Amino acid sequence: MTKEKDAFKEFPWLTRDGNYVRINFDMMPAHMEEETRKALTEYNGVPTFTGEVKNGYPLTAVKDPSVCPCCGASTEEQTAEFIYATSAGMRLMLVPGGWFCGSCPTVIVDEQLIARGMVVKARFRRVVGVINDKTRDPMYFATWRGEKSVFIIDEDEQIEDLITESEMNAMHKSGPPSPAPSIKKERKKKKAKRKQASKARKQNKKR
Ligand SMILES: [Zn+2]
Repeated sequence: MTKEKDAFKEFPWLTRDGNYVRINFDMMPAHMEEETRKALTEYNGVPTFTGEVKNGYPLTAVKDPSVCPCCGASTEEQTAEFIYATSAGMRLMLVPGGWFCGSCPTVIVDEQLIARGMVVKARFRRVVGVINDKTRDPMYFATWRGEKSVFIIDEDEQIEDLITESEMNAMHKSGPPSPAPSIKKERKKKKAKRKQASKARKQNKKR
């Protein structure tokens, strides 16, 4: 108990959330990152993942997170820095929120844990990858739920969301594009014409 209290006094950007510790990178001075990461890992007692990841699965889609849904080997719960997309851009969260396969580059992610731990007021979309612990490079999921990932990128080349190919196809199949935009345009044109007409009438009155 005392150890826990001390750790939280030393690192005010850490807060407790049930059985987990929440880390606010926005509050944390940059030079403290390394130390905080170590302290958090020690506190959690969950080892840090140091390998590579290519495939992501949501925890909600697997029956048993201790078994890899990709190759059937056993997994281990580990701490990692997860990259997730929100309605306010991409964010990072360091949490013991993944079961990593010991035999292939697959992780089962507890997305609910990450969504609950968000410090920004934004809508959680999806976990899109994991930060490589050694190189600090992002490892984006090449597959999600066993399907090829499709990344939705905004004009600043930030990932807005990750969808699977079948989700994308379902979106395309949902009927022909709505005729609403052209109707709006028509209305606008009519409105503009009306405006011109009334302007002309006013001008006529002045004469
Ligand atoms: Zn595996």
